[in-house]
Amino acid sequence: MATPKLTDVSWLGPKDEMDRASHLFGKCSECYEIICVEKAVADKQNTQQETNEMIYEAFHTHVKLKHSEDANQAASQAETKKTLDEYQKKVGS
Ligand SMILES: [Zn+2]
Repeated sequence: MATPKLTDVSWLGPKDEMDRASHLFGKCSECYEIICVEKAVADKQNTQQETNEMIYEAFHTHVKLKHSEDANQAASQAETKKTLDEYQKKVGS
């Protein structure tokens, strides 16, 4: 299984006025879910770094919640198939 990646990251709001944009969003490459975070509030004008970290943190949580479970499921499916294969071998034909 491919590792999910955060894609199409961009600011919600006028492109030329990033300071007015309020949200940063990106898309999960695996399930196309939109990850969206509010712009970080900081004393300094440019909060892009902080907000970038926030979206990656949110995406990390998304992957952990949504895709590690999928991975476990896939593993257990493979396990089930192996068991069935072995059973069929035993039974013969
Ligand atoms: Zn996803």
